[in-house]
Amino acid sequence: MNAVVAADYSTPDSGEVVQITPGLLWLRMPLPFELDHINLYLIEDVDGWVIVDCGLFSSATTEVWDAVIEKHLGDKPVKQVVVTHAHVDHIGAAGWLCDRFDVPLYMTGREYDLVQEFLAELATPNGDSQVTRVEFFHRLGMNPKQTTSLMAIYGGFADLFSVLPTEINRLEDGDYLTIGSNRWQVIVSEGHSIAHASLYSRSLGILISGDQVLPRISSNVSVGPHDPDGNPLRSWLCSLNHLKTLPADTLVLPAHNFPFIGIRKRLDELIEGHQQDLKKIEQICTEPMHIMQQVEQLYDRKLSLFDLLLASGECLAHVHYLMQKGRISRSLDGEGRYCYQTISADQERR
Ligand SMILES: [Zn+2]
Repeated sequence: MNAVVAADYSTPDSGEVVQITPGLLWLRMPLPFELDHINLYLIEDVDGWVIVDCGLFSSATTEVWDAVIEKHLGDKPVKQVVVTHAHVDHIGAAGWLCDRFDVPLYMTGREYDLVQEFLAELATPNGDSQVTRVEFFHRLGMNPKQTTSLMAIYGGFADLFSVLPTEINRLEDGDYLTIGSNRWQVIVSEGHSIAHASLYSRSLGILISGDQVLPRISSNVSVGPHDPDGNPLRSWLCSLNHLKTLPADTLVLPAHNFPFIGIRKRLDELIEGHQQDLKKIEQICTEPMHIMQQVEQLYDRKLSLFDLLLASGECLAHVHYLMQKGRISRSLDGEGRYCYQTISADQERR
């Protein structure tokens, strides 16, 4: 049951824009994945345009940017680039845009530091971090063939990032970006990524939500090799609850799918989805099971390798949440894989 109402805008064609409100434009970039697009936004200031999110760094993206900039920005230059978070579909072309227009990049410092670390790791294919990554996949229960293929996928990501500026303007929760006559409040959330920035304008009643709230799909919440013992689901659920303080009629402009109304209902739906997943995992793990065994039971379809990466990270996030609640215990099997078992009511009493 989907709780949201799509706002009444037609989807922009490639290289075109749709006006959300005067001075706020919606455009799309292609993605070569199952999720085949990302929504980006342009906000008009008195002396130029602010870009919010950038697309991958690829010829398909830069061609669309060329078309949009030439056709839709009038006399005003690009003056600033903002990225909501450092996932490649949002930040990939940011360095190229900043360099091309000689403009500053705004994002949270934690996202910037983490992506620079990630890019440095990709640049040293045989470094310690690669060993850590291989071990991490093994502990999930992946076989060597899957691990080798995943490492190749990681390696391929490097080409989708342009070189980031060496200095950025670090956004923090509660900051404002004053653009034209509107103030956009920075709302930092954790869980999907380390410090995701959404932008909220009270006067316009609009939230540019990045990947924080999506109307159709649920954002991936994963434990990854950079923080193998983390509990991102706890932060994620907190951040979803926090956003419920926004007015119910807020127009949400997400990075994927379509603009919509119904944020509170959607937040409830997302939270409920995670509660259901937590229940399922508790039910599945009556015997010690590694993450790949759990994923097999949670999904009734064959997953692509990339989806398997997302699904296993998300399953582990749920498992860690349950561990921190004292609902699941962890052991190591003879092959060095982590196995998880629900703590029975009997054990709980001990
Ligand atoms: Zn993301």
